[in-house]
Amino acid sequence: MKDNDKEFNVKPATHIYKIYSTGKIEKCHREGAIKGKYHYIDNTNKNHFLGKFYYKYITNKYKFNRKYGLTKKINLVDLNNIKNYSNGSISFGFTMDSPRHYVNEFTLASLFGAMLECGFDDFVCNGFSKADGSSSPSVSHKNGYHGDFKYLRKDKVIKTGAGTSLDISIEPKKFDFTRQNKFINALNKFGWTNFLGWTYTLNKTVYYLDHISKNTKNHNHHLHIEKYNHDFISIKNK
Ligand SMILES: [Zn+2]
Repeated sequence: MKDNDKEFNVKPATHIYKIYSTGKIEKCHREGAIKGKYHYIDNTNKNHFLGKFYYKYITNKYKFNRKYGLTKKINLVDLNNIKNYSNGSISFGFTMDSPRHYVNEFTLASLFGAMLECGFDDFVCNGFSKADGSSSPSVSHKNGYHGDFKYLRKDKVIKTGAGTSLDISIEPKKFDFTRQNKFINALNKFGWTNFLGWTYTLNKTVYYLDHISKNTKNHNHHLHIEKYNHDFISIKNK
Protein backbone atom coordinates (compact mmCIF):
# COMPACT_ATOMS: atom_id res chain seq x y z
CA MET A 1 0.00 0.00 0.00
CA LYS A 2 1.31 3.40 -0.92
CA ASP A 3 1.46 6.12 1.71
CA ASN A 4 -1.10 8.08 -0.27
CA ASP A 5 -3.60 5.23 -0.04
CA LYS A 6 -3.07 4.97 3.65
CA GLU A 7 -3.61 8.67 4.10
CA PHE A 8 -6.48 9.38 1.76
CA ASN A 9 -8.33 6.16 0.96
CA VAL A 10 -8.24 3.88 3.94
CA LYS A 11 -8.76 6.23 6.85
CA PRO A 12 -11.92 8.29 6.54
CA ALA A 13 -10.92 11.93 6.19
CA THR A 14 -11.40 14.29 9.11
CA HIS A 15 -11.64 18.04 9.34
CA ILE A 16 -9.56 19.63 12.10
CA TYR A 17 -10.87 22.78 13.74
CA LYS A 18 -8.53 24.90 15.83
CA ILE A 19 -10.37 27.48 17.92
CA TYR A 20 -8.06 30.09 19.44
CA SER A 21 -9.00 32.06 22.56
CA THR A 22 -7.90 35.16 20.66
CA GLY A 23 -11.05 34.82 18.50
CA LYS A 24 -9.48 33.20 15.47
CA ILE A 25 -10.64 29.84 14.06
CA GLU A 26 -8.80 27.72 11.51
CA LYS A 27 -10.25 24.76 9.64
CA CYS A 28 -8.01 22.20 8.05
CA HIS A 29 -10.20 20.92 5.20
CA ARG A 30 -10.08 17.45 3.66
CA GLU A 31 -12.34 16.61 0.74
CA GLY A 32 -15.00 14.08 1.68
CA ALA A 33 -14.44 14.28 5.44
CA ILE A 34 -17.15 12.54 7.42
CA LYS A 35 -16.30 13.99 10.81
CA GLY A 36 -14.71 16.95 12.50
CA LYS A 37 -12.25 17.15 15.39
CA TYR A 38 -12.49 20.30 17.48
CA HIS A 39 -9.61 21.74 19.49
CA TYR A 40 -9.47 24.86 21.66
CA ILE A 41 -6.14 26.65 22.12
CA ASP A 42 -6.18 28.68 25.34
CA ASN A 43 -4.22 31.86 26.11
CA THR A 44 -1.27 29.83 27.42
CA ASN A 45 -1.19 27.96 24.09
CA LYS A 46 -2.48 24.78 25.72
CA ASN A 47 -4.50 22.48 23.48
CA HIS A 48 -7.90 21.24 24.70
CA PHE A 49 -9.54 18.45 22.69
CA LEU A 50 -13.31 19.04 22.74
CA GLY A 51 -14.41 16.03 20.76
CA LYS A 52 -14.78 14.25 17.44
CA PHE A 53 -18.20 14.54 15.84
CA TYR A 54 -19.61 12.64 12.88
CA TYR A 55 -21.37 14.81 10.34
CA LYS A 56 -24.84 14.62 8.95
CA TYR A 57 -24.16 15.39 5.28
CA ILE A 58 -27.20 17.06 3.74
CA THR A 59 -28.26 18.96 0.65
CA ASN A 60 -28.35 22.71 1.16
CA LYS A 61 -31.95 23.61 0.41
CA TYR A 62 -31.24 27.31 0.88
CA LYS A 63 -28.07 27.73 -1.18
CA PHE A 64 -29.24 30.81 -3.01
CA ASN A 65 -29.40 32.64 0.26
CA ARG A 66 -25.99 33.87 1.33
CA LYS A 67 -27.06 33.76 4.98
CA TYR A 68 -27.18 29.98 5.02
CA GLY A 69 -24.10 29.01 3.02
CA LEU A 70 -23.44 28.84 -0.73
CA THR A 71 -22.29 25.23 -1.13
CA LYS A 72 -24.59 22.52 -2.53
CA LYS A 73 -23.96 20.23 0.42
CA ILE A 74 -23.38 21.06 4.06
CA ASN A 75 -22.37 19.22 7.22
CA LEU A 76 -24.44 19.38 10.38
CA VAL A 77 -23.52 18.10 13.84
CA ASP A 78 -25.95 16.72 16.42
CA LEU A 79 -25.69 18.96 19.48
CA ASN A 80 -26.89 16.08 21.66
CA ASN A 81 -23.42 14.59 21.16
CA ILE A 82 -21.63 17.58 22.66
CA LYS A 83 -19.91 16.73 25.94
CA ASN A 84 -19.33 19.27 28.67
CA TYR A 85 -15.67 20.16 29.02
CA SER A 86 -13.57 21.02 32.07
CA ASN A 87 -9.81 21.18 32.43
CA GLY A 88 -8.38 23.65 34.91
CA SER A 89 -9.86 27.08 34.28
CA ILE A 90 -11.14 26.10 30.81
CA SER A 91 -14.68 24.75 30.91
CA PHE A 92 -18.25 24.98 29.72
CA GLY A 93 -21.54 23.20 30.40
CA PHE A 94 -24.15 22.89 27.65
CA THR A 95 -27.70 21.55 27.76
CA MET A 96 -29.87 21.00 24.69
CA ASP A 97 -33.58 21.70 25.14
CA SER A 98 -35.13 21.46 21.68
CA PRO A 99 -35.87 19.03 18.83
CA ARG A 100 -33.93 21.46 16.63
CA HIS A 101 -30.60 20.04 17.79
CA TYR A 102 -28.44 20.26 14.67
CA VAL A 103 -25.76 22.92 14.31
CA ASN A 104 -23.53 23.68 11.33
CA GLU A 105 -19.93 22.37 11.39
CA PHE A 106 -18.69 25.99 11.27
CA THR A 107 -21.02 27.48 13.87
CA LEU A 108 -20.20 24.61 16.23
CA ALA A 109 -16.58 25.81 16.29
CA SER A 110 -17.73 29.36 17.00
CA LEU A 111 -20.13 28.21 19.71
CA PHE A 112 -17.31 26.30 21.44
CA GLY A 113 -15.15 29.43 21.29
CA ALA A 114 -17.87 31.62 22.81
CA MET A 115 -18.84 29.15 25.56
CA LEU A 116 -15.22 28.55 26.57
CA GLU A 117 -14.53 32.28 26.64
CA CYS A 118 -17.31 32.61 29.24
CA GLY A 119 -16.68 29.36 31.10
CA PHE A 120 -20.28 29.08 32.32
CA ASP A 121 -21.85 25.71 33.18
CA ASP A 122 -25.46 26.63 32.52
CA PHE A 123 -25.85 27.33 28.80
CA VAL A 124 -29.24 26.00 27.68
CA CYS A 125 -29.98 25.96 23.96
CA ASN A 126 -33.54 26.38 22.69
CA GLY A 127 -32.60 25.20 19.21
CA PHE A 128 -30.66 25.65 15.99
CA SER A 129 -31.99 23.52 13.09
CA LYS A 130 -33.62 20.17 12.40
CA ALA A 131 -31.70 17.25 10.86
CA ASP A 132 -32.56 18.32 7.29
CA GLY A 133 -31.48 21.93 7.90
CA SER A 134 -35.05 23.20 8.21
CA SER A 135 -36.47 24.89 11.26
CA SER A 136 -40.25 25.26 11.14
CA PRO A 137 -42.05 26.92 12.82
CA SER A 138 -39.09 29.31 13.00
CA VAL A 139 -38.42 31.00 9.68
CA SER A 140 -34.74 31.82 10.03
CA HIS A 141 -32.98 28.88 11.70
CA LYS A 142 -31.71 27.28 8.49
CA ASN A 143 -28.69 24.98 8.10
CA GLY A 144 -27.58 25.34 11.71
CA TYR A 145 -26.46 28.95 11.46
CA HIS A 146 -28.95 30.71 13.73
CA GLY A 147 -29.67 29.63 17.30
CA ASP A 148 -31.73 30.39 20.38
CA PHE A 149 -30.55 30.33 24.01
CA LYS A 150 -32.38 30.71 27.29
CA TYR A 151 -31.45 33.86 29.15
CA LEU A 152 -28.81 33.23 31.83
CA ARG A 153 -30.07 33.13 35.41
CA LYS A 154 -28.44 34.49 38.53
CA ASP A 155 -29.18 31.22 40.36
CA LYS A 156 -27.57 29.25 37.48
CA VAL A 157 -30.28 26.58 37.72
CA ILE A 158 -30.59 24.55 34.52
CA LYS A 159 -34.23 24.14 33.53
CA THR A 160 -35.57 22.24 30.54
CA GLY A 161 -38.99 21.61 29.05
CA ALA A 162 -41.90 23.74 27.95
CA GLY A 163 -42.28 27.03 29.77
CA THR A 164 -38.94 26.87 31.62
CA SER A 165 -37.18 29.73 29.83
CA LEU A 166 -36.71 32.80 32.03
CA ASP A 167 -38.97 35.63 30.87
CA ILE A 168 -36.93 38.75 31.58
CA SER A 169 -39.94 41.01 31.01
CA ILE A 170 -41.65 39.32 34.01
CA GLU A 171 -38.72 38.30 36.24
CA PRO A 172 -35.82 40.68 35.56
CA LYS A 173 -34.44 40.19 39.08
CA LYS A 174 -33.59 36.57 38.26
CA PHE A 175 -31.75 37.63 35.12
CA ASP A 176 -27.95 37.70 35.16
CA PHE A 177 -27.35 40.50 32.69
CA THR A 178 -23.61 40.70 33.45
CA ARG A 179 -23.05 37.10 32.36
CA GLN A 180 -25.54 37.53 29.50
CA ASN A 181 -23.58 40.46 28.11
CA LYS A 182 -20.36 38.46 28.39
CA PHE A 183 -21.95 35.64 26.35
CA ILE A 184 -23.35 37.99 23.70
CA ASN A 185 -19.96 39.69 23.31
CA ALA A 186 -18.22 36.30 23.10
CA LEU A 187 -20.67 35.13 20.39
CA ASN A 188 -19.95 38.35 18.52
CA LYS A 189 -16.20 37.83 18.88
CA PHE A 190 -16.61 34.33 17.37
CA GLY A 191 -18.65 35.24 14.31
CA TRP A 192 -22.30 36.12 14.92
CA THR A 193 -23.06 39.73 14.03
CA ASN A 194 -26.70 40.24 15.04
CA PHE A 195 -28.73 39.43 18.12
CA LEU A 196 -32.44 39.63 18.90
CA GLY A 197 -33.73 39.89 22.43
CA TRP A 198 -35.43 42.11 24.95
CA THR A 199 -34.71 44.97 27.31
CA TYR A 200 -35.05 44.55 31.06
CA THR A 201 -36.53 47.05 33.48
CA LEU A 202 -35.37 47.43 37.08
CA ASN A 203 -36.62 50.21 39.37
CA LYS A 204 -38.36 51.79 36.40
CA THR A 205 -35.12 52.13 34.46
CA VAL A 206 -34.90 50.36 31.09
CA TYR A 207 -31.61 48.60 30.38
CA TYR A 208 -30.34 47.36 27.03
CA LEU A 209 -28.19 44.29 26.52
CA ASP A 210 -25.01 44.68 24.50
CA HIS A 211 -25.71 44.54 20.72
CA ILE A 212 -29.49 44.60 21.34
CA SER A 213 -30.97 48.04 20.84
CA LYS A 214 -34.66 47.13 20.74
CA ASN A 215 -37.29 44.64 21.85
CA THR A 216 -38.16 41.98 19.28
CA LYS A 217 -41.54 40.27 19.63
CA ASN A 218 -41.37 36.84 21.34
CA HIS A 219 -37.75 37.38 22.42
CA ASN A 220 -38.52 38.26 26.04
CA HIS A 221 -37.73 34.61 26.92
CA HIS A 222 -34.74 33.79 24.71
CA LEU A 223 -31.74 35.25 22.93
CA HIS A 224 -31.63 34.72 19.16
CA ILE A 225 -28.21 34.77 17.46
CA GLU A 226 -27.93 35.31 13.69
CA LYS A 227 -26.13 36.77 10.67
CA TYR A 228 -23.08 34.56 11.01
CA ASN A 229 -20.00 35.87 9.25
CA HIS A 230 -19.25 33.24 6.58
CA ASP A 231 -15.71 34.55 6.16
CA PHE A 232 -14.95 34.22 9.86
CA ILE A 233 -13.19 30.83 9.74
CA SER A 234 -9.99 30.63 7.74
CA ILE A 235 -9.92 27.42 5.70
CA LYS A 236 -6.75 25.60 4.70
CA ASN A 237 -6.91 22.81 2.17
CA LYS A 238 -4.78 19.80 2.85
ZN1 LIG B 1 -34.37 32.24 16.94
